[in-house]
Amino acid sequence: MAKKTVQDIDLKGKKVLVRVDFNVPLKDGVITDDTRIKAALPTIKYVLDQGGKAILFSHLGRVKTEEDKAGKSLAPVADRLGELLGKEVTFVPETRGEALETAINNLEDGGVVVFENTRFEDVDGKKESKNDADLGKYWASLGDVFVNDAFGTAHRAHASNVGIASTGIPTVAGFLMEKEIKFIGEAVEEPKRPMVAILGGAKVSDKIGVIENLIPKADKILIGGGMTYTFYRAKGIEIGKSLVEADKVDLAKELIEKAGDKLVLPVDSVTAAEFSNEVPTEVHEGAVPADQMGLDIGPKTVELFANILKDAKTVVWNGPMGVFEMSNFAKGTIGVCEAIANLTDATTIIGGGDSAAAAEQLGFADKFTHISTGGGASLELLEGKELPGLAAINDK
Ligand code: ADP
Ligand code: MG
Repeated sequence: MAKKTVQDIDLKGKKVLVRVDFNVPLKDGVITDDTRIKAALPTIKYVLDQGGKAILFSHLGRVKTEEDKAGKSLAPVADRLGELLGKEVTFVPETRGEALETAINNLEDGGVVVFENTRFEDVDGKKESKNDADLGKYWASLGDVFVNDAFGTAHRAHASNVGIASTGIPTVAGFLMEKEIKFIGEAVEEPKRPMVAILGGAKVSDKIGVIENLIPKADKILIGGGMTYTFYRAKGIEIGKSLVEADKVDLAKELIEKAGDKLVLPVDSVTAAEFSNEVPTEVHEGAVPADQMGLDIGPKTVELFANILKDAKTVVWNGPMGVFEMSNFAKGTIGVCEAIANLTDATTIIGGGDSAAAAEQLGFADKFTHISTGGGASLELLEGKELPGLAAINDK
């Protein structure tokens, strides 16, 4: 998956289109978390340092109707970017047209323009999200080269990534994109062994593709979270009131057969009578009693998983081990985080929105080699799928 990066092309004096991920949380027009803007800085600064003219654009939230546009302008993002860069950033409240073209033509080397939320184009026939060819062509016409640094949307073919690239404009990856491909790609395709995958979260149905892709690649696959109980049912173990996907039980059986002893299921669960942090908890080995639901892996499972993890050289983790949002059911996820934090010589990667949030919330974010910024995109990369946004970047 060797792709050209921003370091492989000449940027001096060029109009550089940069698809960034500025999809930040906003409340009443105020940015509540600017992590994504900061994460885009290395690529932006590089373009400016090289003497390029940066034309930045991104989606922000979902926009389907005219009313949806309220509170989804990139204007506050452009302001914050100006502060972070310590230089003037011109914001154009349009996604096309004369004002935008003039602003771009007036750019000096090292200058920055941010234009409006690409999804504002969705109000009129979903042009961005449906990869309208004319829109992609138009945006491509505004620049000389295209840098795609938005990994989070790489699993979608939109006008602002695939549309622009498919016009034939030189297309390269930014630093964020490069990092994601490198870490997730290498972990899955050429892992240092043993490679241990940890899969959890709510449902098997979300993770089937990942499990199937990783069975031949991983040395061990540890299962936790809500999907445990669909596997339990497949093995004829009682699950009480636990989450189960009845229509996925046969598939779970198949996965158990295919994976053999690579697949490791929890040996105990932390349970409660209700999906609540306010009721007493119990620990059960194997079967979950009829009036209980399994909401976290139990202490023996944490020990079992920690033991397997201690020799790992590559760890890929997707999906929390329990309902970590409630303190009563966070210990399994914390235990696995601790086991990973103890590894000194391993590449450890988290992909998945909630898993990344869990690691951050529980205070382990800095213990991982890489926390993926793209939930859906990292999942699809773990599934071994080709991401259209990535495929559209020129090969080295
Ligand atoms: P990710 O976003 O990392 O891919 P998922 O979205 O698949 O993860 O799953 C995360 C959710 O799974 C969390 O909100 C968590 O509360 C829930 N979950 C974990 N374990 C259980 C369980 N035993 N029962 C019900 N929900 C669970
Ligand atoms: Mg999720």
